[in-house]
Amino acid sequence: MKIDFLIVGQGIAGTVLSYTLRRAGCTVKVVDNGGTQSASKVAAGIFNPITGRKLVKTWYGDPLFKYLHEFYPELEQFLNTRFFHQRDVYVPFDSQEKQNTWTVQASEPEYEPYIKGFYHNLYTNTVNAPFGGMCITKAGYADIPTMLDAYRLNLKENDLLIEKELHHEEIRHLAKGIAWQEIEADQLIFCDGTQSAFANPYFKWLEFRPVKGEVLTVKFPDISFEHIVNRGCWILPQKDGTYRVGATYDNHDMSLETTEAAKKKLQEKLEALTSAKYEILEQKTGIRPATYDRRPFLGIHPVYKQIGIFNGLGAKGISLAPYFAQHFCEVLLKDKNLMGLVDIERVIRRYQIKNEVLAKL
Ligand SMILES: Cc1cc2nc3c(=O)[nH]c(=O)nc-3n(C[C@H](O)[C@H](O)[C@H](O)COP(=O)(O)OP(=O)(O)OC[C@H]3O[C@@H](n4cnc5c(N)ncnc54)[C@H](O)[C@@H]3O)c2cc1C
Repeated sequence: MKIDFLIVGQGIAGTVLSYTLRRAGCTVKVVDNGGTQSASKVAAGIFNPITGRKLVKTWYGDPLFKYLHEFYPELEQFLNTRFFHQRDVYVPFDSQEKQNTWTVQASEPEYEPYIKGFYHNLYTNTVNAPFGGMCITKAGYADIPTMLDAYRLNLKENDLLIEKELHHEEIRHLAKGIAWQEIEADQLIFCDGTQSAFANPYFKWLEFRPVKGEVLTVKFPDISFEHIVNRGCWILPQKDGTYRVGATYDNHDMSLETTEAAKKKLQEKLEALTSAKYEILEQKTGIRPATYDRRPFLGIHPVYKQIGIFNGLGAKGISLAPYFAQHFCEVLLKDKNLMGLVDIERVIRRYQIKNEVLAKL
């Protein structure tokens, strides 16, 4: 069977890229092992244009956020499934200085579209907010399990899903394209998340910096939050009345075990944010496919030209995937130049990696 693209992995990256390629008229198959090592299955799915301890605009925020607000509703329509939820993020200030800074900054053109307003009486006596807080708009969350399941079903119904492990040594290189099992494809694109960093002979030379993250699911018996509340940690309301609380960042422990240390850290942060009584229902962990410079890894292998990668979405897969999948699609189909900041070429230049090394499998 001859197709245009074989996509390896059906996390956020493989889902968004394969849909974008199909929409552009390409023939695609997706191979996914349904594995437990998927960061997408653990992620909270939050998209927030202003993040971090210092509260700064997400890198490349304007184009990313403009596009994601078009992309996900379109995908919802295609799948006839609701998973994209817009919700404001309430950020209680931790100092008078922060309140002063944001009162000025909120009217700057860079931030003005994303700041809804300032509040002094939100969740009074529940959220620790002596300096008031602000609400960030154009934010929300994607219910990722629902999105992935609905897309997986669509792939199955269209006979486009292969539920198997792709073993790298089974890839055969043809004069034009690749072959794997009964499939011949012009190109194979790895959307295999942390597998690229740990076990993919084609791309493990890339400077991935995987980061483990843990999240809790909790119940607040006496209070409900309608916003995503964010300071030190985030509290994300779920459809079933529970909340997710996250997340930790650890770049040493790469095990997929949950830890008491992470639970304790999240509890401390949660208790600094709110005095509400809570009960922990569940703890989950995953590993983010992050990169040395916090930019995605897109591109074609410098030696094996029929093999590419769409990866390195780090902690912001939901925000980054739609825009960069569309960009990569234009590179692959219309010979557009790949943006230097996401091109894997930057790694080769920075570390002066030789072709002999890249050709070794
Ligand atoms: C605790 C935590 C919280 C997070 N919260 C957020 C958040 O709120 N918002 C946000 O935007 N991001 C968040 N993230 C980050 C987000 O999870 C990642 O950016 C995203 O999931 C990466 O998706 P991916 O498709 O690249 O990788 P993955 O989700 O890991 O998908 C890779 C897929 O490929 C499959 N695969 C790999 N190798 C093979 C093979 N050889 N053969 C077949 N199949 C294969 C895997 O089984 C998997 O299904 C969070 C991450 C963690 C850990």
